[in-house]
Amino acid sequence: MTQLSSTTTLPPATGFASLGLAAPLLRALAAEGYLEPTPIQAQAIPVLLEGRDLLGCAQTGTGKTAAFALPILQRLSQPRPEASRAKRRPIRALVLAPTRELASQINDSFAAYGRHAGLVTSVVFGGVGQGPQVRQLQRGSDILVATPGRLLDLIGQGHVHLEQVEVFVLDEADRMLDMGFVRDVRKVVALLPARRQTLLFSATMPRDIEALAASILNAPARIAVAPVATTAEKIAQSVYFVGRGDKGALFRHLLRNPELSRVLAFTRTKHGANKLALQLEKDGTPAEAIHGNKSQSAREKALASFKSGSVRVLVATDIAARGIDVDGVTHVVNFDLPNVPESYVHRIGRTARAGAEGIAISFCDAEERPFLADIERTIRLAVPVVADHPFSRAAASSRPPMPPQRPTGPAANGNGHGNSNGYGNSQGRGREGVRNGEGRAPAKRRHTRRSGRSLSA
Ligand code: AMP
Repeated sequence: MTQLSSTTTLPPATGFASLGLAAPLLRALAAEGYLEPTPIQAQAIPVLLEGRDLLGCAQTGTGKTAAFALPILQRLSQPRPEASRAKRRPIRALVLAPTRELASQINDSFAAYGRHAGLVTSVVFGGVGQGPQVRQLQRGSDILVATPGRLLDLIGQGHVHLEQVEVFVLDEADRMLDMGFVRDVRKVVALLPARRQTLLFSATMPRDIEALAASILNAPARIAVAPVATTAEKIAQSVYFVGRGDKGALFRHLLRNPELSRVLAFTRTKHGANKLALQLEKDGTPAEAIHGNKSQSAREKALASFKSGSVRVLVATDIAARGIDVDGVTHVVNFDLPNVPESYVHRIGRTARAGAEGIAISFCDAEERPFLADIERTIRLAVPVVADHPFSRAAASSRPPMPPQRPTGPAANGNGHGNSNGYGNSQGRGREGVRNGEGRAPAKRRHTRRSGRSLSA
């Protein structure tokens, strides 16, 4: 019985504990429901706790945020002797991310993993007023997550000082370069102390990333993990090309199949979610919408009905879906495709939970074709097309002309959607993170080749 008493008196020896993480972080991970480290966490955390630089080839979805956030939180939890004399907390860790969505997510992750660490995290990004961000900075912050343009603006105005930065993370470096941020990144790096720990993460490692890495990293450990596609591959995905006006009819058609018994459907807008839920109800399918305009109690009620099975279709927006954790979702239906590829991965990950197989169906109208291309590049899969459905022809005839093909060469000006918002290669400020689908236009494409189901980088 010795064994039993030792397991009951000691904290659970999770895989995370064996990596050398401190108790406050382990408690936060337990609260998050993380049982075992993902491969990148298992490899990166010990190396980072030693203080080494890191070059990580990993995508969103692999658990890379915790892989860098946990060692940073652990390092920063150890107070520095001079810290007590400082007027306000100096920024000791800086994380640069290309988009505001990613920056916010990283900030949320730091807050979640660091909930018992007593550290302050802030996030700054363009496209919104800077007042609240400045006020937050004035209160002092140990960790700052930022997009490059807004960060440089705030540095220029004297709101941010980087002299005390000990750890610098460059996340999604390849996208940062794609979006034309390389000069901004280099300007930021030039302001950092030479003595620091530096981490660079990138989904792909083309030569320009290797060159950037060589110039900012010092004898880095190199870690590469399988792309998120390995997760996405577990889910049976398909796409239906359909005219926008036929999406509702196509959904009704699919719902005739009783196998779609617990369906999580996604729309891009709150209005779209309401409209779809109402229409489904009218057609006799129990449905509820869940989004930011609904009160907390209305959301909880909808979720409970979905969990109990009395609601067959829950229609959600991406934001509202964040907190949804329902087992046994038989199908995820992307009624609208997301304009942020990572949202697709998060959405479809809500089926096939806990190793179960899942099914994800996407509707794609003509205007959403570029989103699909972005998604396929991110998941490195060509999503199989179901052409044999009653609205396929209607979709073809009602479809407006296809948008121009996006440029593929280095000469591309980053405006591949044929829009004119000047977002691509523009050096203007406030453009970052404005990934509204019109705006997202990499300056240079990553070259992936379609070879059957799997796209290899
Ligand atoms: P990331 O690649 O950092 O965007 O993480 C992808 C998703 O995996 C996020 O929703 C995390 O909350 C989740 N996640 C990260 N690490 C773990 C883990 N060890 N166990 C379970 N989920 C995790």
